[in-house]
Amino acid sequence: MKYKLLVVGTMAYDAIETPFGKVHKILGGAATYIGLAASRFSIDCAVVSVVGEDFEKEHLALLKDKGIDVSGVEIVPGGETFFWSGRYHNDLNTRTTLDTRLNVLENFDPKIPDHLFTPDIVMLGNLSPDIQLAALAQIKNKPKLVVLDTMNFWMDHARESLDKVIEKVDVISINDEEARQLTDQYSLVKAAQMIHEMGPKYVIIKKGEHGALLFHNNEIFCAPALPLEEVFDPTGAGDSFAGGFTGYLTQTDDISFSNMKSAIIYGSAMASFTVEKFGTENLVNISHQAMSDRLKAFKELTTFEIE
Ligand code: AMP
Repeated sequence: MKYKLLVVGTMAYDAIETPFGKVHKILGGAATYIGLAASRFSIDCAVVSVVGEDFEKEHLALLKDKGIDVSGVEIVPGGETFFWSGRYHNDLNTRTTLDTRLNVLENFDPKIPDHLFTPDIVMLGNLSPDIQLAALAQIKNKPKLVVLDTMNFWMDHARESLDKVIEKVDVISINDEEARQLTDQYSLVKAAQMIHEMGPKYVIIKKGEHGALLFHNNEIFCAPALPLEEVFDPTGAGDSFAGGFTGYLTQTDDISFSNMKSAIIYGSAMASFTVEKFGTENLVNISHQAMSDRLKAFKELTTFEIE
């Protein structure tokens, strides 16, 4: 039996500038990256999102080919797909958002199809918190785990609704800068404690090329990021991480802290592939061998002995 993962998030067209090049319109969006990363696992993965009439058929087909259920992706006649544009700085760890055009997202009222009402795990990808709340309200049985990803844009524009979603989820996954903005705390340990108090039992703080931290009560797990020779485009790293994390947890049907540590490594491995090429290009072509080599590299990177 396969366990079920429901992903809610944006599907988008992105324009990206990095020190290594520029692209004007490529497939992006949180749900796209999450779905593609999660679909590598032996699970039933479905995406709920919205796109405009301009969304290319081949892009929807790409998700379908990976076995993703896209029956919950609404196509708005005459509408334009969500558009995001960003520029990365020389260190690739920081970026400036140049443009966010919500387009069809502005009036999106998510409708979860009946057959997707009872997922084992729900991954609320980066999206308006009001839409995240509306989607969550439609889930019938309480899922084993609800995971939330968000970003500074929603902290600036929809803080009240965001606080309501944060209260309802089990795990939150955000980057260090966002954790600091959310809590007004410089120390990430203190920030994680404050976020625990807001609701989530598990707090993941991503630190780009410096890895990720998982906090649960008084326990902390620290995962490295793989030192890579070439990083081309960090877009979607956080979402690929979320897809690897939730895909692995769904497949193994085990949400213990110790299994979450392995899930973090799967997520980090997935993110490391994404950043090596522009957009989703690398993510869709990872061989089994490449994946297992990368997991091995993570293990070697962190194993040592102390007398
Ligand atoms: P990440 O690099 O993992 O933070 O995710 C990048 C993806 O998030 C891009 O493909 C964008 O289309 C999408 N994105 C950017 N801004 C937003 C936003 N405000 N809400 C939802 N998705 C966004």
